[in-house]
Amino acid sequence: MAVSRGIHFFQNPGPTNIPERILRAMDRGTIDFTGAQFKAIAEECFAGLKRVFKTEQPILGYAASGHGAWEAALVNLFSPGDRVLVVETGYFSLNWGLRCEAFEIEVETLTNDWRRCADPVALESRLREDREHRIKAVLVVHNETSTGVVHDIARLRRAIDAARHPALFLVDVISSLASMDFRMDEWGVDVAVAGSQKGLMLPTGMAFTGVSAKALAAAAEAKLPRVYWDWRRLVEGTSQAVWNGTAPVHFFYGLQEALRMIEEEGLDQIFARHHRLAEATRRAVRVWRQNDGPEMFAVDPRGQSDSVTAVLAPEGWDANAMRAICLDKFNVSLGGGLGPLQGRVFRIGHLGDLNEPMILGALAAVEMALELSGIPHGKGGVAAAMDYLVSAT
Ligand code: PLP
Repeated sequence: MAVSRGIHFFQNPGPTNIPERILRAMDRGTIDFTGAQFKAIAEECFAGLKRVFKTEQPILGYAASGHGAWEAALVNLFSPGDRVLVVETGYFSLNWGLRCEAFEIEVETLTNDWRRCADPVALESRLREDREHRIKAVLVVHNETSTGVVHDIARLRRAIDAARHPALFLVDVISSLASMDFRMDEWGVDVAVAGSQKGLMLPTGMAFTGVSAKALAAAAEAKLPRVYWDWRRLVEGTSQAVWNGTAPVHFFYGLQEALRMIEEEGLDQIFARHHRLAEATRRAVRVWRQNDGPEMFAVDPRGQSDSVTAVLAPEGWDANAMRAICLDKFNVSLGGGLGPLQGRVFRIGHLGDLNEPMILGALAAVEMALELSGIPHGKGGVAAAMDYLVSAT
């Protein structure tokens, strides 16, 4: 096996790079998760998470990846035979929907072109047609990690309100939280689903849901069986107050440090940094697009994500072969295409603990791999990214 030297550039759109500060914070001995010391850490963490979710409502946590928090939302809110409306945004939206089917929740999909922002007018008109209010909830992925399209949650909320529909509003913020602006309370979100391994810069394994009073009321009526995920146990503290089972103390050490780092930098500055690095990436892609080269998958400029850029390879070219060159030759790991985009798309993650030289290094590796794989492209993408970063600094 080839020996690789130097830093591994982990440029996937999650999990993300874990800062040394967080790794060091986790490098400590165990403490009693029922004791006062842990209680203080957990309280600091949940208070900090509320500021990141921009909510005054409870945040509930689980030892799980995002899939667990998806499932927690479903089993707490619904009964068999309930109907939900999934706004199609890409691979992750459809997968959340597939989980509903497993619980005999009827899924209706509001179809949408994966390359464009979800249409609030279509949502409003579908909800207006639903006069009997059969639709119990609208499910949306804020930032569709498979496509690099960010969807306008505030406008989708206004569409639900304009239709005067009582559906719950469930939003997956797994790849937007702490990277792009999200406002749970202001945008009227009933359940926000998040994970630890993206903007929060932690290892995979902690998941969270922000839960509104309306969602907690629905949970009291829902009939699906639930034990580990049960919000009532977490909110009422009938088991161990903040956690079902043994609390993952080391994750909390890491989360405490991550939240301190987030507060030191400030959310607005974090969003601005993500925007800058994303825009640099987009400038590079625009140059590569010349000579019929690869293009931005997200065609709607206002929908181009600041945490991940999905790039569509030209027809007939294999994006995975190019990714393999990046990894094997330059030690740079990129995300691949998911579902129908397998082999057609490569994804550059630019979220979490990342700065200008890191994104430029990754873009340089992509540009070299385009050349080595023979994919037609314009030259000078990295230079365009540098010019932009100079002008934006
Ligand atoms: N939703 C989105 C938007 C995601 O990006 C992911 C994972 O990348 C998931 C859900 C699934 O989360 P996990 O892989 O943490 O279970």
